Amino acid sequence: MLIVMHHWATDKDVTLVKKTITSMGLKPVAIPGAERTAIGIIGNQGRVNDAPLRDIKAILEIIPVTKPYKLVSRDFHPADTVVTLGNKVKVGGKSPFLVIAGPCAVESRDQMMKTARLLKKMGVPVLRGGAYKPRTSPHSFQGLREGGLELLDEVRKETGLLVVTEVVSPEHVGIVAEHVDILQVGARNMQNFDLLTEVGKIRKPVILKRGLSGTLEEWLGSAEYILLGGNPNVVLCERGIRTFETATRNTADLAIIPLVKEKTHLPIIFDPSHATGKRNLVAPLSLASIVVGAHGVMIEVHPEPERALSDGQQSLHFPEFEKLQGRLNSLGKFVKQKMQGQGTRA
Ligand code: PEP
Ligand code: MN
Repeated sequence: MLIVMHHWATDKDVTLVKKTITSMGLKPVAIPGAERTAIGIIGNQGRVNDAPLRDIKAILEIIPVTKPYKLVSRDFHPADTVVTLGNKVKVGGKSPFLVIAGPCAVESRDQMMKTARLLKKMGVPVLRGGAYKPRTSPHSFQGLREGGLELLDEVRKETGLLVVTEVVSPEHVGIVAEHVDILQVGARNMQNFDLLTEVGKIRKPVILKRGLSGTLEEWLGSAEYILLGGNPNVVLCERGIRTFETATRNTADLAIIPLVKEKTHLPIIFDPSHATGKRNLVAPLSLASIVVGAHGVMIEVHPEPERALSDGQQSLHFPEFEKLQGRLNSLGKFVKQKMQGQGTRA
């Protein structure tokens, strides 16, 4: 439920509304606005009986909210959320386009250090690498697990890069958060509600990937679990969805990016590697994601993709990544200039 106050409502009126909501056993969330204040209500598991609020004169309107998400909704939080990664890098709103890159999986110290040195040289701030790998076949490489976390921690300390890795089970959230700066919830776990609840208890940023068949509403419902747990630092990541088309690994749903920006204030990045599964499609799709308004990209890059233990076919060689980075920079500047003053969120 959303309560919209009259423009003449005083701080005292707002406090009265908040107290009334609390006395109803619910939680008020203030939503500041330029014109008038609104107050959201969370904590209800069904319809709210608004009788105690009806006689408060300073209330203009009481709007029932039927969506499965509130805290992540633009209705509850009109301004863009900017998430800070590791106290220094920002993503969302008008922050510079973020590039995250690295191999699919952490394989060795040498592989991670080579990649980290390239990123550092290029000014790319965040290194990715999976320590726990959720693989379709149990016979495929499952990741170095704790050993992978140790390597990520070493590389981040040695290079000062920020590091992101996937967490696959609620019991691992603590140990993963100790070793990396950003946690990733993968597509296969988008609706692992125990995992979402657990990452809601920490404050490190979480990249929440869209599930293989996740609808926008389901995806935002999943983000809501994390925010409701108390962690506001969520970055959404579109990584392609399952369709009838098998020519690409997944179908890149670029249309969802501007739509996500309409529905939620959270940042949204794009993963062209899993969205396409093909190295030669990574550059064009990364560039396209800038045009539709993504706040960043996450790209798989490997020193020797032919020898990669997972996702080599979609991983860029270093020179390809360097070339793409140059193109992203030029296109980013161009799009920013063109969009200025047009009042569009994309
Ligand atoms: C990954 O980022 O390595 C990964 C497994 O991605 P997704 O969860 O999108 O399949
Ligand atoms: Mn991968």
